[in-house]
Amino acid sequence: MGRLIVERSVNGSACKPLPGLYVVATPIGNLGDITLRALAVLANADVIACEDTRNSGAMLQAFGIRKPLLSYHDHNADKRRPEILEKLGRGQCVALISDAGMPAIADPGFKLVRDCRDAEIPVIVIPGPNAAITALASSGLATDCFCFGGFLPAKSVARKKAILAYKQSAGTVVFYESPQRLSESLSDLAEALGPERPAAVARELTKFYEEVRRDKLLALALYYAAHEPKGEIVILIGKGETEESPMDIKSLLSERLKSLTLRDAVAEVAEMTGLPKKEVYATALDLTKNL
Ligand code: SAM
Repeated sequence: MGRLIVERSVNGSACKPLPGLYVVATPIGNLGDITLRALAVLANADVIACEDTRNSGAMLQAFGIRKPLLSYHDHNADKRRPEILEKLGRGQCVALISDAGMPAIADPGFKLVRDCRDAEIPVIVIPGPNAAITALASSGLATDCFCFGGFLPAKSVARKKAILAYKQSAGTVVFYESPQRLSESLSDLAEALGPERPAAVARELTKFYEEVRRDKLLALALYYAAHEPKGEIVILIGKGETEESPMDIKSLLSERLKSLTLRDAVAEVAEMTGLPKKEVYATALDLTKNL
């Protein structure tokens, strides 16, 4: 287990952290998810860059933190960056937060990190909550391999085109989505990736109305067309059940051969994967030969 180290300070005192850009994760709904390091850095930063000063001001107030705030969002990021870099160049300690969760993921934070790295300004990440990872962990879909697609385009033609890039994805695919576009996006996803693909919609994670709904893609599209969703949303799409690689089939079979007869193991895996029994049987025979 690691040690608890709250930030190293300028002169060894317990207060001001060393100069640099601090990328600080904040709660995605439940304020109890703030970390000790996040509180220490935010309370001692010279300035806090955030997407929406009103929103972040309220969050900081809940922790009794009052600091100068600087807005840094999609619409002013290019203009604001030189100003922030100048502060960092003067040895200030700048904290970057987003409206919720991990800054630099699906927001303009990454451009600031990139420019700091280019200018050899220290970047220190204070990890914590993140909507995509929380949704993934909660979904029950495969997590051994996943792909984060950020936000899909708002317009249907561009969205359908963007979705095609995920057709061959080897693992679970994760998107952020707005409640207004959820059912349209689900139906475009069902059309392109297949109506039967296992999927989940994670809504209002860590909040009072948290909900994780799992179903086939088309069923989810129909559900949300009939039940208008509210709040913040993550869409997750599992691997198609017929897309198991030979390697996966081998491990599915090996697992079952520990407790089932060859015949039963083959029948179960053939049903799970949709592959012809003959093909699964041949793989099973190969496996037993090498045992
Ligand atoms: N950078 C943050 C992160 O990755 O944790 C997210 C920023 S992104 C601009 C905001 C999107 O994250 C929302 O539109 C929603 O899709 C997702 N999100 C944030 N909080 C959420 C929550 N509590 N439940 C579900 N999705 C959430």
